[in-house]
Amino acid sequence: MTEHRLLARLAEGPVICAEGYLFELERRGYLQAGAFVPEVVLDHPERVTALHEEFVHAGSDVVEAFTYYAHREKLRIIGKDDLLEPLNRQALALAAEVAKSTGTMLAGNVCNTNVYDPADPDTHARVRDMFTEQVSWAVEAGADFVIAETLRYHGEAMIALEVIRETGLPSVVTLVADRSGQSREGLPMVQACQRLVDAGADVVGLNCNRGPWTMLPLLAPLVEAVDVPVAALPVPYRTTADQPTFQSLRDPAFPEPSIPFPVALDPFTCTRHEITEFTRQAADMGVRYLGLCCGAAPHHLRAMAEALGRTPPASRYSADMSKHAYLGTDASLLAKNQQYADQL
Ligand SMILES: [Zn+2]
Repeated sequence: MTEHRLLARLAEGPVICAEGYLFELERRGYLQAGAFVPEVVLDHPERVTALHEEFVHAGSDVVEAFTYYAHREKLRIIGKDDLLEPLNRQALALAAEVAKSTGTMLAGNVCNTNVYDPADPDTHARVRDMFTEQVSWAVEAGADFVIAETLRYHGEAMIALEVIRETGLPSVVTLVADRSGQSREGLPMVQACQRLVDAGADVVGLNCNRGPWTMLPLLAPLVEAVDVPVAALPVPYRTTADQPTFQSLRDPAFPEPSIPFPVALDPFTCTRHEITEFTRQAADMGVRYLGLCCGAAPHHLRAMAEALGRTPPASRYSADMSKHAYLGTDASLLAKNQQYADQL
């Protein structure tokens, strides 16, 4: 029954899936922004394992193998095509080990290939081959399900879904809504997701690109429109109606370099309180598969888990300001320090 584990969990309640490995390992100094290829899987596997563990500690129900951008096209750009299979297999093995030791689910992963062209059938075949090899390695590693994510083209998502369905594993397909709120072909998200559901997707929704406040408005009609669980994994950045995606954000304090994406987004980072609020609103709306994408750190994920009423192991260290020397309320604290609080 391993292949139905995700669906059984979703029937019981919301599932949390941590994403955002590229950005977090980039910030930690183990991955290069730009090409964004997860060489860290081979160069520093212990760092990948540690981040998997931190996300589970913070409340993730899923360990997603770090095969994001570990596809043929990305490895070609950095001249390391020969690493394709070892990198994928190692990423899956690292994730499988953490999933097994923590009792969480193992997810395989494919993503946008950057070669898909709706008008060029040759690229469709290439994309299918790229997905097929990555998904087959995920199956061999014992994945509970496969995630196809950050897909801007609905057509590319359909190919990913077909490849996943051939394996018999459940599928989670999440699309990227661009500044217009549509797929790259110009399909509204509701329509794009409905077509994926009609083609057999088990979970559909949105991930990456949009922050909580510009993803939420797209979610309500989606939950209404489809009869499968809806996924929502925004980036934890303060996107706005005028700048609805993290790539469109502009920082007036530092106009040069011209765009904060991807390495100067820090001032836009959501607080954990905003993630709490997003999670409540999304869950109330009926979103069943929740997570965070690029920019997420474990404290964000813990806030998400706690907003769903959970106490993951990391909740042992959730903030308790009552014992703070100046700002606290504990009866044993020195009054002179509390009186000094407004001078801090
Ligand atoms: Zn992302």
